[in-house]
Amino acid sequence: MMRKIIFATGNAGKMREIRDILKETDVQILSMKEAGIDIDIVEDGTTFEENAVIKAKAVARILQGHDDGTYRNAVVLADDSGLEIDYLNKEPGIYSARYLGEDMPYSVKNKNLIERLTGVPDEKRTARFVCAIAAALPGGEVVTTRGVIEGRIDYQEKGDNGFGYDPIFYVPEYGCTTAQLSEKEKNQISHRCRALEAMKKELKKRI
Ligand code: IMP
Repeated sequence: MMRKIIFATGNAGKMREIRDILKETDVQILSMKEAGIDIDIVEDGTTFEENAVIKAKAVARILQGHDDGTYRNAVVLADDSGLEIDYLNKEPGIYSARYLGEDMPYSVKNKNLIERLTGVPDEKRTARFVCAIAAALPGGEVVTTRGVIEGRIDYQEKGDNGFGYDPIFYVPEYGCTTAQLSEKEKNQISHRCRALEAMKKELKKRI
């Protein structure tokens, strides 16, 4: 039977990205929904890695619980990501989604961060998107990988692509924000893509 990988996310964009990155491998990739799982996981870790591990283990536990053999050799992947701004002591970090409230529009969150950097010069506006991925393997082993993309906080929002903090995340090599890159361009350099590529290598060694 083909190896199954369950990606613990409800985000369609992330599913597209992982399917694209793992397309040449001989695995079947399922979303939580496709695997029949619907849970809300409390992410109470203190690092991106801890949160990713919490999610991967929670889903793995549920799969084992109602398994009739279908998921015996399945791998569960989960990710956690966010934006670290050096001048703000790495805020919003693991609280990126919750910054100023989960339901606050990103236009407000982004303007707020720009405002908090008023008068701060280019060289002190450094920031990075971080993504940690955790894999819960059938034997109980858990592996994590991390991917980052370095940039700096822009002086105004630019671009309509992407999501979240993309409009204020300026990438010097490209001379634009990640919201000004196409989905394809961003996926080739993103923190998530880098963490997934690293995970692909780790999984190749193990399964
Ligand atoms: P999560 O990993 O889905 O919980 O994402 C955490 C939060 O980090 C998102 O809600 C965004 O605020 C932010 N974030 C993570 N990756 C990106 C990205 O690629 N672009 C913009 N914001 C991001």
